[in-house]
Amino acid sequence: MRKLATLAVLAVVAVVSTGPVRAQSSAPVTLVKAGRLLDPRTGNVLAPAAILIEGEKIKQVGTSSKIAAPASARIIDLGSATLLPGLIDSHSHLFLDIVVPPEAEVDRHANGIFAPGMLLAIVESPSKRALLGSQMAREDLESGITTVRNLGHSGIDGDTELRDAINAGRVPGPRILASARKLITRGSYVQNLNPALADGILQQEFLLIDGADRARQAVRQNAFQNVDVIKVTADENLTVAELAAIVDEAHREHLKVAVHATDKTSVQTAIDAGADSIEHGNFVTDEQLTQMRQKGIFLDLTPTSYGGFFLKIMEPSVVLSAETRSSRVNSSARRDKQYKELIQRALKSGVKFAAGSDMCWFYPGKTRGQASAATFVNLRDAGMPALDVIRSVTINSAEMLGWGDRIGAIEPGKFADLVAVNGDPLADITELERVRFVMKDGRVFRNELNKP
Ligand SMILES: [Zn+2]
Repeated sequence: MRKLATLAVLAVVAVVSTGPVRAQSSAPVTLVKAGRLLDPRTGNVLAPAAILIEGEKIKQVGTSSKIAAPASARIIDLGSATLLPGLIDSHSHLFLDIVVPPEAEVDRHANGIFAPGMLLAIVESPSKRALLGSQMAREDLESGITTVRNLGHSGIDGDTELRDAINAGRVPGPRILASARKLITRGSYVQNLNPALADGILQQEFLLIDGADRARQAVRQNAFQNVDVIKVTADENLTVAELAAIVDEAHREHLKVAVHATDKTSVQTAIDAGADSIEHGNFVTDEQLTQMRQKGIFLDLTPTSYGGFFLKIMEPSVVLSAETRSSRVNSSARRDKQYKELIQRALKSGVKFAAGSDMCWFYPGKTRGQASAATFVNLRDAGMPALDVIRSVTINSAEMLGWGDRIGAIEPGKFADLVAVNGDPLADITELERVRFVMKDGRVFRNELNKP
């Protein structure tokens, strides 16, 4: 069905482009020059660097003296800045912006701080939500995130429609890999909903897995929605047979399966069923990391709550009792210690890894892009070498997404998705929070380094 539709579109385009004006229009050529270019694949730095861009693709990369641009080329000279590939956030939620509620409200909900925010997002107007998603997408792009994999919580078609609107040039934003509705078991997301209305409300956000056949059907429903990836939440209710059916059906549609799994049991379900990536994986064991390496399953790290995150986002707007504050400080310190160990174990195991922000929170004083970039920087604080942090959000994530041939590196043939920072991100990873130049598809979306 989808292939037929694509062919029909191609036929229309072919007819339109035979007109005399369009047929001869050649792609604009741009030369981007900068003091340094960091290649995350090798860790090598090219200095001084030049990138020749034709239309939306990179044509040539080299030292400035080796790249010849035609006289008509637009030249963007970024001075002494360092160029990097556009950043990839491989786990985000553009259609959630949860304000952490006061303690009394949290205490009333079975799934704690998530419930009120998620509920609001589902029951409010989808149009309002679409505009939120559009804002979050623009803010991500402004901070240098040129690709986002949106893994659930966007209503029935929020992220697929936003992706298409961005691709059509209606609104600015990163390229989006959309997952549409998240596949869950009945056990997940207890949300204190009115039981008489609960099913109707939850269907706006989730597809229910109830046996292998229903699971396959859910994949097909999302495929019909033209998704780029399937997102599943694994918990102890999900069986290996159900998840294996999802993986099989998704792979037949050439879609990868990203599985939310944090505890040992659900991580094992994801491994046994042949998931493509395990999201979060906080309590993965060493043996499971070895199994993941052997099967080529990616670990998608989400260091969102690292470094007292919840205190940072709550304190400006929520009055905390002394008791809650000290318990949050303690739990945060405990989680940070576990996270540091996870990073070391993952690096030692040789498992393939990438990173995502998992950002779904309202962060006072920061845009969504700034909040997400701050999350990437947490990996460095948690003990990951700076080059590996950069790989996690460029070359590694591109491979995890199955888009290694088009993004994640500054190489000929890839999309011209570039960012530049003033300093050296290997010496100071917080440079990722201060992106000064953003290009996506050969188009400049931010430039504080050179005003042409
Ligand atoms: Zn998530």
